[in-house]
Amino acid sequence: MNKFQELGLNSSILKAIEDMGFKSPSEVQEKTIPILLDEDTDMVALAQTGTGKTAAFGFPLIQKIDPKSKHTQALILSPTRELCLQITNELKNYSKYEPSLHPVAVYGGASITEQAKQIERGAQIIVATPGRMQDMIRRKLTDISKIEYCVLDEADEMLNMGFYEDITAILSHTPKEKNTWLFSATMPKEVATIAKKFMRNPVEVTVGSKNMGATNVSHEFYLVNARDRYAALKRLADANPDIFSVIFCRTKRDTQKVAERLIEDGYSAAALHGDLSQNQRDLVMKSFRTRQIQMLVATDVAARGIDVDDITHVINYQLPDEVETYTHRSGRTGRAGKTGTSMVIVSKSELRKIKSIERIIKQSFDEKQLPDGKDICRVQLLHLANDIKNTEINHDIDTYLPNINKVLEDFSKEELIKKFFSVEFTRFSNYYKHASDLAPVSGGANVDLDPNSTRYFMNVGKKDGFDWMSLKDFLKDALQLGKDGVFKVDVKDSFSFFNTENSETDKVLNAFNDFEYQGRKINVEVTKNSNNGGAKGGRRRKGRKDGGFGKSDSKSGNKGRSRFKDDKDTGFKGKKGKRSGSRGKNIESSIKRRKSKK
Ligand code: AMP
Repeated sequence: MNKFQELGLNSSILKAIEDMGFKSPSEVQEKTIPILLDEDTDMVALAQTGTGKTAAFGFPLIQKIDPKSKHTQALILSPTRELCLQITNELKNYSKYEPSLHPVAVYGGASITEQAKQIERGAQIIVATPGRMQDMIRRKLTDISKIEYCVLDEADEMLNMGFYEDITAILSHTPKEKNTWLFSATMPKEVATIAKKFMRNPVEVTVGSKNMGATNVSHEFYLVNARDRYAALKRLADANPDIFSVIFCRTKRDTQKVAERLIEDGYSAAALHGDLSQNQRDLVMKSFRTRQIQMLVATDVAARGIDVDDITHVINYQLPDEVETYTHRSGRTGRAGKTGTSMVIVSKSELRKIKSIERIIKQSFDEKQLPDGKDICRVQLLHLANDIKNTEINHDIDTYLPNINKVLEDFSKEELIKKFFSVEFTRFSNYYKHASDLAPVSGGANVDLDPNSTRYFMNVGKKDGFDWMSLKDFLKDALQLGKDGVFKVDVKDSFSFFNTENSETDKVLNAFNDFEYQGRKINVEVTKNSNNGGAKGGRRRKGRKDGGFGKSDSKSGNKGRSRFKDDKDTGFKGKKGKRSGSRGKNIESSIKRRKSKK
């Protein structure tokens, strides 16, 4: 007798279990199934997503329902469309050998008439999102007055999403004597209220300890200045080339912004939030499931019900407002017996939240240092070596080989390897050469603390057609400072920042004295916060009191115009990402190119 048999499950379910390849019941299944099969009782089960809770209520439900009767006998409410579809699919798998049993999914964003038709044909189990279910009831497209079982799945999530009113309204259409099974990862006040109000003496089952995050998830935090969040995120991604992750932001706006920046920087990323249409969300989820997207940037609400088993990392770009939400986030990784890592990018002011979360998850966080440039180079080069090792040879290149071989004929294998890897290494090391360690420095919230370099403000930005690549090229050409002479280029909408070594400050300021472009003064100043004494040392240009954001006061001249004109004629200005020759090689495009090949 196998362990599932011992729980009291019937032969058709046992056969389906065998087909699905489940070897033994999970903890929540062991605890709930015998009770739900034996007793007509209400139940509150505290269990995370990924613990096998769908089967914990699904197996007993299928066994107890009469497949010969066509009327609706069970209603399962779940917070999202994704979860709703996932539960329905699981139920279909479990009832594979019960062909007359029809679970039907009812959710927004799809044809309500089609769903009503399916119910009319006979749906013993309806799996619904609260909003659409309310719609169905209002339009009298469904009858739940005779249900015997009601499952509230991810009750805490449904309440978080503001479904309290819908749930109570739906329950008012169901018979009092039904059994209600409530599943929740956490037990906030609101869930306890529902249990008290709508359930009779529920049996309580807890998997692990209450509110515990999955134990196969390790928790790490990285302390940075708030302004370095994005740079920190990039490092975490660069240090984990095989990352497959959900990145959580607090707002839709931040979610969109972070995703856009990642895409611009060449990562395979996409945003998932409530401002996208259902179609767009479906497309994003499909690409994520099929791993065309490595980094899914999501809001808490949109990420609910994401059921992807192999997520390697959850990254908290910002911590959630409610610390309880952290368990939902971290529960997206470490599913189905796998291990996962939940990373938090945290600023000093949020550190106390880490302590509160530790109390909730009953696990401690490891404080980690962000990987530095060397670490990242090492990881990326090794990753590249493995990629090469595992790449199948594409014989379409055979016809080009004679020419290629001719070019490279003088080099030994060792030299070729060194050269090939130098291409990649130089890009990474140049990129990270001037990057600081991003560790927060007390009292220095917004100060650029690289003592050897000077930061400048410049009054051109994205509106003038620049991105960081084209601006960096422009500056390098205008200043003749060599390949790595200009760094930390940060292009905003109508202005930008960049750095040079301190020794170049006079050269920079002189070069941009009376520099004009398309009839407009180009204005460059040392920033207020530059820490090298530049601001004190009189490097700011005369007449500016506003720190660089106002209009220029000097008369326009043509000193710089002709040089800029030459540059403009080369066509680099405003051509995002399209650059030719060696100047076009940069770390960000290199990442993009390699990612897109996957
Ligand atoms: P859930 O917590 O219901 O979202 O389940 C998480 C994943 O575990 C799903 O892919 C299930 O198919 C799978 N699963 C559920 N029960 C078992 C089991 N006893 N053995 C192996 N996998 C399971």
